[in-house]
Amino acid sequence: MIKKVGIVGFGQMGSGIGQVAAAAGYEVVACDVSEKDYERGLGYITRSLDKAIERGKADEAAKKKVLSNIKGVTKLEELADCDLVCEAVVENMDVKKEVFKKLDSLCKPETILASNTSSLAIGDMAAVTARRDKFVGLHFFNPVQIMKLVEVVRTLDTSDDTFVAAREFAESVGKTCVTAKDSPGFVVNVLLIPYLLDAIRQLERGLATREDIDNGMMLGCGHPMGPLALTDFIGLDTTMFIADIMFDEFKDGHYAAPPLLRRMVNAGYIGKKAGRGFYDYAKKK
Ligand code: NAD
Repeated sequence: MIKKVGIVGFGQMGSGIGQVAAAAGYEVVACDVSEKDYERGLGYITRSLDKAIERGKADEAAKKKVLSNIKGVTKLEELADCDLVCEAVVENMDVKKEVFKKLDSLCKPETILASNTSSLAIGDMAAVTARRDKFVGLHFFNPVQIMKLVEVVRTLDTSDDTFVAAREFAESVGKTCVTAKDSPGFVVNVLLIPYLLDAIRQLERGLATREDIDNGMMLGCGHPMGPLALTDFIGLDTTMFIADIMFDEFKDGHYAAPPLLRRMVNAGYIGKKAGRGFYDYAKKK
C-alpha cells in the first residue's frame, strides 16, 4: 500500500508530481541537490496553487494541505522508508543510474522505484538495481497538475504487482493511464518529438516566422499551443536530450536534432524556465 512518496529531482516535473501526490493525501518527501533547488520547486507549486485559487478552482485550505504534505530534503537517505520513489532528475542516463543505485541500497526492500524519463530505457536503469521486478516507468506530462495522462511503462522484469501498484498510484492522483512498452519515447514522444523537430527545421530554413508556424498549427489543426511555444514549455534542453536518445536508438533522421536547437541550447536559450527560448519571456513579464 503506497502512503509515502519520494520524489528525486524537484524541478518542473518533480514538483508537479509532488503537488498532485500531496493533493491526493500522500506524504511527500522531495529531494533535490540543494535547499535552493527544492525551494524553487515549492515556489512552482505555490504559484500554481495561487493561480488555481484566483480562478476559483482551489482554496486556501487546499493550498495549505498540499504544502503541509511536502517535506523538502537534500539527502536521498531521507527517502529510505518511502513506498514509492519517482525520479525526475535531468534526462541523462548516467545521472539517473547513479540515483537509482543509491536508492536501491538505501530504500526498504518493498519500495517501488519509478522513473519519469521521457525517452531513456527504463530496463537499463532497473538493471543497476537488485529489484528489477519493483521497477517501472511512470511518465507524467507537463504541467502535471493539468495534464491527464500517465504512460505506465513495463520492462521485461516489471512484476504484475508493481505494474498494478504504479497504475493505481497514477489513477489515485487523478490521471488516466496508457501502458507502453519500454521503447524510446513510449507512445507520445515517439510521435511528438519528430513533429517539434520538424517545426524547428522549418523555422531554421525560413519557411515562416515563429508566430506564423505556431498560429498555423493552432488555428489550422486546433492544437492548443504551437510547436515552438510547446518546445519552449517542455524545455529546449529536454527536447534535445530526448531527440538525441531516440536518434541514438533508432538511427533515423526523423529524430535528429536540428542545428538551430543545439545552438540555442548551448547559448542557454532553453525555453520558458530560462526566460528565453524561441520566445522572450522576460519581455512578456
Ligand atoms: P528540470 O531541469 O526542471 O528539473 C530537474 C531537477 O533535477 C532540477 O531541480 C535539478 O536540480 C534536479 N537534479 C539533478 N540531479 C539531481 C540529483 N542527482 N539528485 C537530486 N536532484 C537532482 O527538468 P524536468 O523538465 O523536470 O525533467 C525531469 C525529467 O522529467 C527528465 O527525465 C525529463 O525527460 C522528464 N520529463 C520532462 C517533461 C517536460 O515537459 N519537461 C515531461 C515529461 C517528462
